[in-house]
Amino acid sequence: MKSLIRLNAVLFILISVTAFTAHVKAAKITKSAENIRAGKKIKFDAEPGIAGGSVTWTVDKTKYASINSKGKLTAKRAGKVKVTASDSLGSDAVTVNITPKKIIAIDAGHQKKGDGSTEPIGPGASTKKPKVAGGTSGVYTKVPEYKVTLAVAKKLKKQLVSRGYKVVMIRTKDDVNISNKERAQKANKTSDICIRLHADGSSDSSVSGASALYPSSSNRYVGKLSKSSKALSESVLSAMCSKSGARNRGLSQRDDLTGTNWSAIPVTLIEMGFMTNKSEDIRLQDENYQKKLAMGMAEGVDKYFGFK
Ligand SMILES: [Zn+2]
Repeated sequence: MKSLIRLNAVLFILISVTAFTAHVKAAKITKSAENIRAGKKIKFDAEPGIAGGSVTWTVDKTKYASINSKGKLTAKRAGKVKVTASDSLGSDAVTVNITPKKIIAIDAGHQKKGDGSTEPIGPGASTKKPKVAGGTSGVYTKVPEYKVTLAVAKKLKKQLVSRGYKVVMIRTKDDVNISNKERAQKANKTSDICIRLHADGSSDSSVSGASALYPSSSNRYVGKLSKSSKALSESVLSAMCSKSGARNRGLSQRDDLTGTNWSAIPVTLIEMGFMTNKSEDIRLQDENYQKKLAMGMAEGVDKYFGFK
């Protein structure tokens, strides 16, 4: 009996201490989320340590998310962010995982050296084409296409990441050997859509402007991706042209492109301009112009997915 009373007394003290501690404890987060998709907003709640007290909200990485004085968090880009609610007595924090809007594969067309050995132009195809063609080059600047495509690809990645996407770069260096089929397969495995970056060439130096290539509905390998790829092409091309001022030459159906025919996700091949046209060649080397192309394309991706 005596020991029971003692136990009760100990329990009473324990409960009291716990209650007291809880009472003097600082602000406590009462509503949060573990995962939020980039682009979304969510309201966090917290109880101040002292009734009627006020809570201040902060995030540790403002690049990833922002939070207003009422606890409304805006998720900006994929990554982890620590959300803290504080008052005069201390603080409480939770870690929030911001998931990407979507995953985008960017294939910077070509590479330092083309690969003339061949591969089938689509799954089960008997027709074969070189694994990677050499690409065109600037008639005036002499810069090869593979350098322009990678320069814009890097800028496009930056734009997409800042808009909350995850980006998979098919290549990040010039000195690689990745066939068009392998490029498509890498994109298929990792991403929701694929953007293939290229620059055009023509025997007629007066031709200029940008276009987008997508598979037709009768394409025997990826006909079922025609509609979505067309929508993607349209969205990316038109936003890119309006942002950069490039002449919009429109969309073209192409069923002979290995990198497109091996795709399992919506795909567009963007011809950003003609390197055989002197003024467009010069413009395509301009950092500012490249940035505009990238900004426009990123905007087009947002439109395609309905984020804007
Ligand atoms: Zn090309």
